[in-house]
Amino acid sequence: MRGLTYHRPSDVHEACDLLATLGPRARVVAGGTAVAILLKEGLLDVDHLIGLERVGLADVEWRDGALTIGALATHQALAEHPLVHARLPILAEVLGQVASRRVRNVATLGGNLCWAEAASDPPGLLMALGARATVMSARGRRELAVSELFIDYFTTSLTPDELLIDVTVPAPPAGTGIAYLKFTPQSKADKPVLAVTALTGRSGSRCTRAVVVVGAAGPVPLSRPDVDGTLVDREMDRPVWRRWPCATGRPPSPSPTRAAPRATSGA
Ligand SMILES: Cc1cc2nc3c(=O)[nH]c(=O)nc-3n(C[C@H](O)[C@H](O)[C@H](O)COP(=O)(O)OP(=O)(O)OC[C@H]3O[C@@H](n4cnc5c(N)ncnc54)[C@H](O)[C@@H]3O)c2cc1C
Repeated sequence: MRGLTYHRPSDVHEACDLLATLGPRARVVAGGTAVAILLKEGLLDVDHLIGLERVGLADVEWRDGALTIGALATHQALAEHPLVHARLPILAEVLGQVASRRVRNVATLGGNLCWAEAASDPPGLLMALGARATVMSARGRRELAVSELFIDYFTTSLTPDELLIDVTVPAPPAGTGIAYLKFTPQSKADKPVLAVTALTGRSGSRCTRAVVVVGAAGPVPLSRPDVDGTLVDREMDRPVWRRWPCATGRPPSPSPTRAAPRATSGA
């Protein structure tokens, strides 16, 4: 095995400068749960690892009706965070279902999104909630919808010199109902073979807003805003919900196998 140089930048600017200087031969490490597997399996062909443990980026703030979550916040910290519980309890609930506590204690939300594994819990919920991501590089910052991050199995739209720095999740209006269902092969701690997020707004018995996102059924979470729109203004009864999978043209099905990691995620 060739030698690896491990860098420990002390802030996000230094991390971005390192990424810009070292180029694609460098890989960022957040919690390291995915990177460790790649290293162990000999699937990571890089010369430099850039550890993010000193850069901060783990704060959670409530601003202008939205939670802004630092990319380095761990799943467990978020599942227990009082602000997340108070403002977006569904997020705490879903992040508390990711893997085991041991993994959640180190795996970060940013790492989860940048790893872009199809069999994953947070992406579908964040997409349904209309979350946005802020990314940074030595060239500057940009913002994109979380849905725009995912482009294929283990592949994001981030360029190799970009860091995900935070995710902003707007709290849904009062009266919104949100449900997340995770189907696993064996234990609750497994990765999902199918993950469904459904969000609805209602006025009386009529649907005012509907968003359904299906995860783990293909390379990226499946959302069909055009189909969701057909549910709006209808009575919220069972037949309406039965129409959703048919209207998408192809009922989602669980991924038969998990694709082997291609070491090409964003950073
Ligand atoms: C045993 C086990 C069970 C699991 N079960 C589940 C489950 O039930 N549900 C689920 O959703 N997930 C599950 N996972 C996946 C887990 O959520 C991810 O491995 C984890 O979230 C990755 O986060 P990390 O901080 O460890 O990322 P790392 O391993 O550090 O990084 C992952 C990738 O993202 C890149 N990266 C990390 N942070 C950034 C950043 N800020 N900016 C740019 N690029 C970045 C890295 O370069 C690397 O390519 C499981 C993992 C394990 C090992």
